[in-house]
Amino acid sequence: MLRISQLKLPITHTKEELEQKIRKVLRLSKTPSYTILRRSVDARKKPELFFQYSIDVEAEKEDQVYKRCDRKQVMQMERSEYHFPVQGYQGKERPVIIGAGPAGLFCCYMLAEAGFKPVLLERGKSVEERTCDVRKFWETGVLDTESNVQFGEGGAGTFSDGKLNTLVKDKSGRNRKVLSIFVREGAPEEILYDYKPHIGTDVLYHVIQNMRKTILENGGEIRFQSKVTDLLIENGMITGVEINNHETLKASYVVLAPGHSARDTFAALQKKKVPMEPKPFAVGFRVEHPQKLINHAQYGMDENEILGSAPYKLTASVGGRGVYSFCMCPGGYVVNASSEEGHLAVNGMSYYKRDSKNANSAVIITIDPSDYGDGTDPLSGVAFQRELERRAYLAGNGRVPVERLGTFREAVLPGEADEKTDVSGTDASQPFDRKGKCAEHVPPDFSPCIKGAWAFGKVHDILPKELSRDFVRGMEDFSRVIPGFSDSSVLIEGVESRTSSPVRILRDERLESDIRGLFPCGEGAGYAGGITSAAMDGIKVAEEIAGRIAYGEQKQ
Ligand code: FAD
Repeated sequence: MLRISQLKLPITHTKEELEQKIRKVLRLSKTPSYTILRRSVDARKKPELFFQYSIDVEAEKEDQVYKRCDRKQVMQMERSEYHFPVQGYQGKERPVIIGAGPAGLFCCYMLAEAGFKPVLLERGKSVEERTCDVRKFWETGVLDTESNVQFGEGGAGTFSDGKLNTLVKDKSGRNRKVLSIFVREGAPEEILYDYKPHIGTDVLYHVIQNMRKTILENGGEIRFQSKVTDLLIENGMITGVEINNHETLKASYVVLAPGHSARDTFAALQKKKVPMEPKPFAVGFRVEHPQKLINHAQYGMDENEILGSAPYKLTASVGGRGVYSFCMCPGGYVVNASSEEGHLAVNGMSYYKRDSKNANSAVIITIDPSDYGDGTDPLSGVAFQRELERRAYLAGNGRVPVERLGTFREAVLPGEADEKTDVSGTDASQPFDRKGKCAEHVPPDFSPCIKGAWAFGKVHDILPKELSRDFVRGMEDFSRVIPGFSDSSVLIEGVESRTSSPVRILRDERLESDIRGLFPCGEGAGYAGGITSAAMDGIKVAEEIAGRIAYGEQKQ
């Protein structure tokens, strides 16, 4: 196979122009069979915008083509494809999976396809019923603590931007496998090659239903409203699970993929002495800007029909802590993502079209166990999150609390409010682009795009003061890259506390807990951070379990 890299074309190019370029690089007269491996946006010369491609080509007489072509851009490589280690299992062992988020769902999908007839237990409801409960919560404030933005089929990312990029390296081919399953189950094909693939909550909704159908057709079983309330353990080995405090289900292989919000489940695991430890995570706020401001900074124009709403990714180091943007949702909505009464957490979501008027992102600050305890109690991070979420609930009187950055800044850094970071020798409160031309301001009356009720409140009272100050300094640092980012009218909403798991459920190099037969998996267990990486971890655990069962390996 030949791989062409750094193939650059204006974003307005046609298919014929792309093929012409492939022929030119390979010095061929006929277009060979090709697959787009990767497509990214090159905006270094904005407003002139380009796509940059990597293309895999299957050419006849490949060696000769390779000798003749422009080799600065072409490499000869082996084609590698993902293979699951077992197919057509016909035995009786049925693995049990706890949690139907991406980790559990993909684990179940792979095991079902290979013939294992797995049982998937999910505390929440099917995605259809869950969507009604979430809508009701956003419209009325009535929360179902078992069916919400965190719990139910599809897991925490169901009401999300559906960003599918991951920083996890894909030597194993699992990343591509995840994306190809998404495509097979209804996602658009472009996610296979877009540098920042995304499908939005609306597409995800259908993909999850289709994945369920495939699992059931392959002999798997999915049980909703089935919360695992205890693990059954004998002589250090798992023997089954207890469901809803009354039913028991026997199993020798249990995948534990409960996500980062199953606090009662973490407490039950602690009682059962399942080895866990506190881990660093990050907390902060959602910030909203007019999407036009971001488009202008990234693409040099207010709107671009081909590229849609522009994303951003920003990082800073403030007083030894990392401050960074996270889970950015172009053209998105901030959502009330709470799962406990009297507590409030926010997150971000968008539809496939990313067409709301605002861009939102979490701006978060890293913290480690020494920030919220003595490092000994595995659940100290959970207690810290809860306290922040309680304060957020109070700040908005049960609604999402919102504050303008100017007011927030004055409360946490009094007197410094007008001393803004210098950008190109000018006052950073006046947004300028890199050529010094005035960009758009964030209008003073710019309003939020939020799913759920909201109210202006003291967001600055939610985090410890030191973290709030780091937040402001991080925002000001970001305005060097995106002028206007720290304008006084920018909206701040709280609290962003569920960025990743505050706990790690320990597992060895073969993915197994000290409790034999128990396989901690996904984000809640501390082995993933996002939809795709959780799904990849689910596949990894499925491979391990399938291999052990099919090849008759005893638990050690
Ligand atoms: P989860 O998705 O949390 O799934 C765990 C499942 O286990 C849940 O369905 C839960 O109900 C169930 N469960 C818990 N306890 C039990 C029990 N005791 N018994 C039975 N079932 C149980 N990531 C991205 O990559 N891109 C995004 O755009 C993105 N946007 C997000 C937007 C929002 C609003 C949220 C909340 C998260 C977002 N994330 C995003 C993060 C992403 O959703 C998570 O990283 C991912 O879902 C983790 O997958 P998981 O399977 O490990 O856990």
